[in-house]
Amino acid sequence: MKKITALAAALAISAGFASPTALAQQKFVTIGTGGVTGVYYAAGGAICRLMNKDRAKTGIRCSVESTGGSVYNINTIKAGELDFGVAQSDVQYNAVKGANQFKDGAVSDLRAVFSVHPEPLVVLARKEAGVKSLAGFKGKRFNVSNPGSGTRATMETLLEASGMKLSDFSLASELKADEHGPALCDNKIDGFAYVVGNPSANIQDPTTTCGAKLVNITGPAVDKLVKMYPYYATATIPGGMYAGNPDATTTYGVVATFVSSSKVSAETVYLMVKAVFENFDDFKKLHPAFAHLDPKDMIKNGLSAPLHDGAVKYYKEKGWM
Ligand code: GLU
Repeated sequence: MKKITALAAALAISAGFASPTALAQQKFVTIGTGGVTGVYYAAGGAICRLMNKDRAKTGIRCSVESTGGSVYNINTIKAGELDFGVAQSDVQYNAVKGANQFKDGAVSDLRAVFSVHPEPLVVLARKEAGVKSLAGFKGKRFNVSNPGSGTRATMETLLEASGMKLSDFSLASELKADEHGPALCDNKIDGFAYVVGNPSANIQDPTTTCGAKLVNITGPAVDKLVKMYPYYATATIPGGMYAGNPDATTTYGVVATFVSSSKVSAETVYLMVKAVFENFDDFKKLHPAFAHLDPKDMIKNGLSAPLHDGAVKYYKEKGWM
């Protein structure tokens, strides 16, 4: 008898506090990002934060996952294990075309949502290495980044265009972005590459901790790549953005993009873009790399995959399309 009463009471409580429909509608979405010291992690966090403000109304709870980067994110979206991800525009293009890292097959379900901040290729050298160009790392220890990162994808294209091979380095290490700064300052590597928004804590750290120097990435190979591919552009990292680097650095780069899958519902994507663009001033304040974002560019720059239906619905409502 006592048992039955307790059960009845429990049912009454659960019925009173959360209706079965609200429970059924509770949805979880996950955004794949990058290392925790990068900008993708901050971008994912900013998007989820705005999305979760309306959690009570939408029934959607957004969370971020730290990952190996762009290629990993797209592959994991393809596998249906992530709903959203951040990916470099060159990697998005390759996924759509079935090129390079995706030569086993184009990712036909991939959908673009919007683009975010510019991401130049940042190459950092140990102060003592005295390296002034990518070729200067020949015979030295260079971190080409982990497989699965967008940085690695960009580096492979650049090395090939430059007529260089991994074996040109005395060590071509594959450390993740969160590890390369400490490895540089611990004298385990002479340099590393990172395709990242600026300013980034990940670059700030080795420049302040051990006086690391930014390296210009210019020359015929870069000129050729920028001319050949729609998603590359030359880029400048302003002098003084990083400690001990008073001169501007010339390099080239891509833009970060926010992507999803056609398998994710239009309603979820609609609610997500709405959360970002209705709170756009707040969004821009969540990371210094977002300061100059403009919605007009974000709905087209660097997007090779078709826009997700849910995003199109919102952009049309706003009169942006
Ligand atoms: N662009 C990098 C990559 O795809 C990640 C940069 C970041 O996490 O901010 O690997």
